[in-house]
Amino acid sequence: MRATVHGYPRQGPNRELKKAVEGYWEGRVTAEALHSTAAELRRGNWRQLADAGIDEVPTGDFSYYDHMLDTTVMVGALPERHRAAVAADPLAGYFAMARGTQEAAPLEMTKWFDTNYHYLVPELGPDTVFRADAGKQTAELGEALALGAAAARPVLVGPVTYLLLAKPAPGVAPDFEPLTLLERLLPVYAELLADLRAAGARWVQLDEPALVQDRTPGELAAAGEAYRALGELADRPRLLVASYFDRLGEALPVLAKAPVEGLALDFTGPAAANLDALAAVGGLPGKRLVAGVVDGRNVWINDLERSMATLATLLGLAGRVDVATSCSLLHVPLDARAERRIDPQVARWLAFARQKAAEAATLARGLTKGTGAISAELAANRADLASRTASPLTHDKAVRARSAAVTEADTRRALPYHRRTAAQRTRLGLPPLPTTTIGSFPQTAELRRARADLRAGRIDETAYEQRIAAQIREVVAFQERAGLDVLVHGEGERNDMVQYFAEQLTGYLATRHGWVQSYGTRYVRPPILAGDVARPRPMSVRWTQYAQSLTSRPVKGMLTGPVTMLAWSFVRDDQPVAETARQVALALRDEVCELEAGGAAVIQVDEPALRETLPLRAADRPGYLAWATAAFRLATSGVRPDTQIHTHMCYAEFGDIIGAIEQLDADVISLEAARSHMQVADELAGHGYPREAGPGVYDIHSPRVPGPEELAALLRKGLTAIPADRLWANPDCGLKTRGWPEVREALRNMVAAARTVRREL
Ligand code: GLN
Ligand code: ZN
Repeated sequence: MRATVHGYPRQGPNRELKKAVEGYWEGRVTAEALHSTAAELRRGNWRQLADAGIDEVPTGDFSYYDHMLDTTVMVGALPERHRAAVAADPLAGYFAMARGTQEAAPLEMTKWFDTNYHYLVPELGPDTVFRADAGKQTAELGEALALGAAAARPVLVGPVTYLLLAKPAPGVAPDFEPLTLLERLLPVYAELLADLRAAGARWVQLDEPALVQDRTPGELAAAGEAYRALGELADRPRLLVASYFDRLGEALPVLAKAPVEGLALDFTGPAAANLDALAAVGGLPGKRLVAGVVDGRNVWINDLERSMATLATLLGLAGRVDVATSCSLLHVPLDARAERRIDPQVARWLAFARQKAAEAATLARGLTKGTGAISAELAANRADLASRTASPLTHDKAVRARSAAVTEADTRRALPYHRRTAAQRTRLGLPPLPTTTIGSFPQTAELRRARADLRAGRIDETAYEQRIAAQIREVVAFQERAGLDVLVHGEGERNDMVQYFAEQLTGYLATRHGWVQSYGTRYVRPPILAGDVARPRPMSVRWTQYAQSLTSRPVKGMLTGPVTMLAWSFVRDDQPVAETARQVALALRDEVCELEAGGAAVIQVDEPALRETLPLRAADRPGYLAWATAAFRLATSGVRPDTQIHTHMCYAEFGDIIGAIEQLDADVISLEAARSHMQVADELAGHGYPREAGPGVYDIHSPRVPGPEELAALLRKGLTAIPADRLWANPDCGLKTRGWPEVREALRNMVAAARTVRREL
């Protein structure tokens, strides 16, 4: 029995890859230097995996930017507009596809399943011609073999997932289905497999995570056909078809019957259902099962005894069982041992990529040689788990008592929506089409410098706060001059909308090196929600109050909602997420009530991630939406009827969660809409959404400033779906990434547009 992983973090211990790639973009690093840094990082990873006890290392999972883009190159499906650039200079052309150039737009980027990783979406059409290019895969396999890796297994995105994640190219009919290209793509995979075999691959892994989503009978049949065809090839390595992030469900019998030599399955979280399903199909006799029992997406140590029990059951269900992480370790930071500032007692509960690889190796050893061979590891693991359970950090009596006492009534406002609106109108006295923003104003170089100065000890807390106060004065004065109706304080004090609150709540840990790739060279350092959550003191009240003291117009309080506080963190796995969400919601509820007591008549609780963490399988969605919306209501329902609760969402299509949005019981919602030309307004209207809404009219992702006429036209379009007494005028999202000159002009134009359209009412 072997231990393996499906992939490893690419960035290097000090984000060397980011520095090299960005240096190359800026012309400071040559292509050769970039290539050699990358090769060094790959060697480092393979050595690290071998040291951890991994017997079979993955290859080809490394990427300069994104593995889906690498797959697009591998199958030769380059968009027409980039072909010449790639032919002239493959590396520069590769980055042009990722980032765009003056002449050619980049590929669209979207989220990789329900992770925070983003991939570049393949663009295909009826005229797409595929062509095999195994160069990157064979080269990286060669490197691993040259290093003396005992066994190396190329990992490729599988043909079915590749097509299911693609979209029609620009100019192609929007109802074109990329999966119809399967027959054309399979010969290319056949060629790639032959090339890899010639390069020394004994096994090749084909990743098919798209098969853990709900699939139509036609799609399942296509998958069965694909793996029958690939399985029947004469000249090929052994095939391992991998799935992860959820259970295979109805795709399991399809793959179990396919003439491939192995399957990799996830046995963690909702994918644990794979265990019974595997027994139900009679197991995988004569096949290799790569069992993902070590969760590749969280940061916690494995329960080794429980995993041993799972593995023991699996031994009876397959010809051969190997131990693995549930998915690529791309989604976790590199090394928990680098976190020297985390309390050593707590650090023992953490397992990042390096530790997870070691856990898989330990389990494989236990499986091969018997538990006696890993008794020391089991004992240490048992002690660490026990210390986690017994810790006051994970079990705060006061927090638990309060959470247990929450009733359904605590999640309901005193009056229903239709009776609150009149009271809010009287209190606020706003015109029709009221204008507002989503919260943040430009995070200027001065603000970032002030934060860096504070961290480095060059300025003290008082000096830092003076700089924040100065920014608030500027933001408020500008909004008054521009004529906005509901003002904000600008969020200048916030480094990040989750981190800012996480740093002030108990139960959250911060890491120093816990970087995880979000896309390309962008990495994030999610906080770790490790314990019970409490709010020792107010978090945002004083800056909101300060802003309010400067103006007679209403200033919105600004908070991040419970679902987003979880979605952009690593969340504890020792209790249901719903319970963790409830604790965060209670802390936020106190903040909401204190904002109100401090004079706020409008409070916005952002939930941009509500759609993002929607479970992959439709059957799991009602349960998720029930606890998620209850947590939002728990956070916001403690206020008076005449206090107006706003929420905000972005980064998603909202069509399929409008019912859930209503369950939030917010009074006003602002949504991203400018790029889709207010389509969301029609969707809201189509669902009879009965509340106030502000579909964004200003696309804040672009430096382009929309003119007053364009903005007025969007508002008029909004009015065709939402009546004038319920429509708000606002941008798509916060303005923190924009510059002041654009923001000033765009917001002045937005106010002018609202005034023009008001006169037409
Ligand atoms: N209030 C936040 C801001 O304006 C919302 C950000 C977001 O939705 N991503 O920055
Ligand atoms: Zn947003």
